[in-house]
Amino acid sequence: FIIPNFTSFQRRIGDIFEEVSKVESGQVANYIPQLASVDPDLFAVAVCTVDGQQFSLGDDHESFCVQSTCKPVSYAIALDALGRDAVHRHVGREPSGRGFNELTLNQNDLPHNPMINAGAIMTASLINPGRPLAERFSSVMDVWKRLSGGRRCGFDNAVFLSEKETADRNFALAYFMREHGAFPPGTDLLQTLDFYFQQCSITTDVRQMANLAATYANGGVCPTTSDHVFRAETVKDVLSLMYSCGMYDFSGEYAFSVGIPAKSGVSGALFMVVPGVCGIALYSPKLDVLGNSVRGVEFSRRLVETFAFHTYAGI
Ligand code: GLN
Repeated sequence: FIIPNFTSFQRRIGDIFEEVSKVESGQVANYIPQLASVDPDLFAVAVCTVDGQQFSLGDDHESFCVQSTCKPVSYAIALDALGRDAVHRHVGREPSGRGFNELTLNQNDLPHNPMINAGAIMTASLINPGRPLAERFSSVMDVWKRLSGGRRCGFDNAVFLSEKETADRNFALAYFMREHGAFPPGTDLLQTLDFYFQQCSITTDVRQMANLAATYANGGVCPTTSDHVFRAETVKDVLSLMYSCGMYDFSGEYAFSVGIPAKSGVSGALFMVVPGVCGIALYSPKLDVLGNSVRGVEFSRRLVETFAFHTYAGI
């Protein structure tokens, strides 16, 4: 086993979980009613190792919408289908140093990276373009299922409708990118935005999300089903950008002090990938000012105090 004494590992994760559950600060996202009304005290963690050992704690059956944690999945789907060069003709790979929804493009008039809204709208445009939206969406859902150990994810239509209703900024980003000729020719802008909002509205729980994270930790092969979901090259690129850009405008500090590729979403979801070891998923809806789960960040800090999971620990 990659983690030989799993019982002791579980106990130490349990201790961190207990400590972090005392942290009460932060605010739930309030830009849509479906997020504003969630129970702020929900808290769950799940771990899945690259050899398929799993455990979870707290509200581990609670389902939540994935929000920005869909971004490393959309990016991986696009990379796997088109390859690195074709994808990066339309999106950069540099941290933006700005908020996740800022109206800004890089020097080449492209979104800075696939982990911010503009970049994720762009990667949505690259997934099966020209096919009916229903088919594009079901192909994405199929990938989520394969990443989740063969268990289907859900879809929250109320979240989708609200996202669409309150999306002036995302519309602005898309029109801004179109004005600068960033999209592939023939892109249907409104359909692309719907596709992006739909991906944000996919629902899962921490157990499934830990399986997804473990698939990334395992080079694209799901540890519980052995399904080869993504190419190893794809996973390498995704993890590189999660490391540098996955935690909004906290990414540099997180890479420095935690040192684990991770992606957060405004629902309070967070997943971490410890390459070759395990995937960890957390859910706690209260966010800090940058949009990261407060308990998620606190858990991450304590995790690397306890285990040598920082990429550059112990060398
Ligand atoms: N649906 C949100 C948006 O596009 C997702 C953002 C997020 O999780 N940061 O604004």
